[in-house]
Amino acid sequence: MKRDYYEVLGVHRNASDKEIKKAFRTLAREIHPDVNSEDPEAEGKFKEAAEAYEVLSDPGMRSTYDRFGHEGLKKSGGFHDFSEFSFDDILRTFFGQGIFGDDLFGGGRRGPARGQDAAAAVEISLREAATGVTSEVEFDVIGECEPCGASGAAPGTSRETCASCHGSGQIRSVSRTPLGQFVRTGPCRQCGGQGSTVPSPCPDCRGQGRVVTRRQIEVEIPPGIATGQSIRLPGRGSAGEFGAPAGDLFVQVTVMPDDRLARDGDDLIHHLALTMVDAALGATVAVPTLEGHDELLLKPGTQPGEVVVLKGRGMPLLRGRGHGDLKVIVDVIVPTHLSEDQKDMLRRFAETTDEKNYSRESSIFDKIRAAFR
Ligand SMILES: [Zn+2]
Ligand SMILES: [Zn+2]
Repeated sequence: MKRDYYEVLGVHRNASDKEIKKAFRTLAREIHPDVNSEDPEAEGKFKEAAEAYEVLSDPGMRSTYDRFGHEGLKKSGGFHDFSEFSFDDILRTFFGQGIFGDDLFGGGRRGPARGQDAAAAVEISLREAATGVTSEVEFDVIGECEPCGASGAAPGTSRETCASCHGSGQIRSVSRTPLGQFVRTGPCRQCGGQGSTVPSPCPDCRGQGRVVTRRQIEVEIPPGIATGQSIRLPGRGSAGEFGAPAGDLFVQVTVMPDDRLARDGDDLIHHLALTMVDAALGATVAVPTLEGHDELLLKPGTQPGEVVVLKGRGMPLLRGRGHGDLKVIVDVIVPTHLSEDQKDMLRRFAETTDEKNYSRESSIFDKIRAAFR
């Protein structure tokens, strides 16, 4: 069910042309999808407002609407049914007509469009993320057609001034209906609003001046980058229409998980598997780091779940100086598949132990260590 046009624009039924224009301009500023990209309904609202404005700003259509409502307009066929148009068409129509004047969206006439942004993806290892790496990425863009120098005209020929609009890119169309004559200015269909045409189109780009090309470039990936972050390369996206600025390239980075080092922000985590005997007697163990290995001295009586922090041995910070930490979490492995002899030894060991062997009293070394933490 269509809403009442007056209600859409928020004006009285006897509003003047000036009031209607003002109401639409105010509303368009509020709901224009370029400033409301997070509102999924913005486009629909803008179309609704544009349609209401088109009807109410035309005296003939307005009086038909006043007398017969939406039904009356259907019969006359005098206005655009906006649901059939792409949003881009509507923007072209309205901005092409200069309804907004020069104060709103940067002038009335729509120039050649900026190129689209392009996307590429790259996978790197954790160690590459730590040191930074130069990676080659491949991606598709709409690039300038080289054979015709982006003009769209076959080599040896050139573009010609459009015969329909004489180079203005705009065309006035007059439609006669039983209700009267409507004059409308819109982009020239012959040249798509460009003001010029190509008599012999370039065979490579079929006159578009742009072609899809696969590109390869080297991207500098900074140290400390994490999965989900992307690198923006301004001007490396698709070429703009007829010389307009190119879009940007966004390279999305995925850091592949490492077998031995898990990442937690700027910190790294290693789960160290320690035998029951090494945990009890103490041991020197090798711990994987970003650079290779570090030797770690574990005290006698190391407990499961103990965390040894190696300060500054984690990932470099993406912004600013310094590194996160490497946290070694001790897992104590209890033996399985014991032989009868081994079971006997453990039973005899158990007979010799008392509460003191299992006390969690901290040693003098623990106390010293704690003082430094
Ligand atoms: Zn034209
Ligand atoms: Zn070409």
